[in-house]
Amino acid sequence: MKAVAVFPHKRTVEIIDHPAPQISQPTDVLLRILEVGICGTDRHICSSYFGTPPPNSDYLILGHEAIAEVIAVGSQVQRLKAGDLVVPEVRRPCPDPDCTTCRAGRQDFCTTANYTERGIRDLHGYMTDMVTESEQYLNYVPPHLRSVAVLIEPLTIAEKAMLQVWQAQQRLPWLRSEATTEQPGRGLRAVVLGAGPIALLGAMLLVKSGFTTFVYSRSPKPNPKAALVNEIGATYFSTETTPLETFLKTVGPIDLVYEACDAAPLAFDILAHLGPNGVFVFTSQPHRNSANNLQATRAFSHIIGRNHLILGTINAGHDAFESAIQNLDAFYRRWPRALSSIITERYTLDEAKDLLLARPQGIKQIVTITS
Ligand code: BGC
Repeated sequence: MKAVAVFPHKRTVEIIDHPAPQISQPTDVLLRILEVGICGTDRHICSSYFGTPPPNSDYLILGHEAIAEVIAVGSQVQRLKAGDLVVPEVRRPCPDPDCTTCRAGRQDFCTTANYTERGIRDLHGYMTDMVTESEQYLNYVPPHLRSVAVLIEPLTIAEKAMLQVWQAQQRLPWLRSEATTEQPGRGLRAVVLGAGPIALLGAMLLVKSGFTTFVYSRSPKPNPKAALVNEIGATYFSTETTPLETFLKTVGPIDLVYEACDAAPLAFDILAHLGPNGVFVFTSQPHRNSANNLQATRAFSHIIGRNHLILGTINAGHDAFESAIQNLDAFYRRWPRALSSIITERYTLDEAKDLLLARPQGIKQIVTITS
């Protein structure tokens, strides 16, 4: 089988020939990969070679955002059958008996950092024709979502964050009088920093949850991301044409910030203006231009004075995958055009190598393995 692999020692990305997998455990599911999304993590692995090949392999097959079709199942597989569509989870538990989170099936909160991740760390990923996977890490996807299902894994990042936000904010009477069960965020204001796939999927989830949502990102209007934001009922501002002061005045008190912009100075500036009892969710690891001490000091004094909650989040558990599948369905019914337009380019596996090493162009790039 063809596969896209990174060779960290040789510092190369190559299209390789890799042996086809076979069902070896009764709980195994044999999958045909349909599509794989490319994200910042994949690009980072290819540019700085930080991915770790499995033991005894000098390469790592890339790809962790996948949609696949079940080809065959082992004798003990219960929920899935040939022909089903599935989205695999990314992370697998560490072996430490004392890691309470991994032992409870919550490896997304692993305490030892010895977890493994498909396509990232110690396990091959999905940028190839076929893989086997244990049933427990697979999530059934209804067939009508096939064309957008590759967005489920990136959506789980927002889902995991929001599942925690709703729980954590029970620390105080946070919900406004307009809140409903369907839209608990009504009356609350959210700011999304960035307009990449993680940011846009986060904005969709916030709008769907009832938040009045503002997206603050680099590119000036008009641009496709701004149009998409407008289409889902959120408001787009460009950092280039709307200075921070003007933005903050227009938005008013901010209840929640969902950061997905990879820019520390902006994150700190906004953090210093988070409203009382607000939540700041970091999803990227902001390293582009480090923030200065003054920005940090201002932000920290506000965090304490205003009872802020700062939430860092990475990876996602089973609950986030389940709610991502439900919410993707809701987005698909409500904003079919906007949702599909997050996927701006589809490439073949042979083209993937150049794509991984190039600067991203549109919003989300997908590699089609089987059409
Ligand atoms: C994935 C996460 C993963 C992380 C590791 C992200 O792109 O969505 O599942 O844990 O990369 O760096």
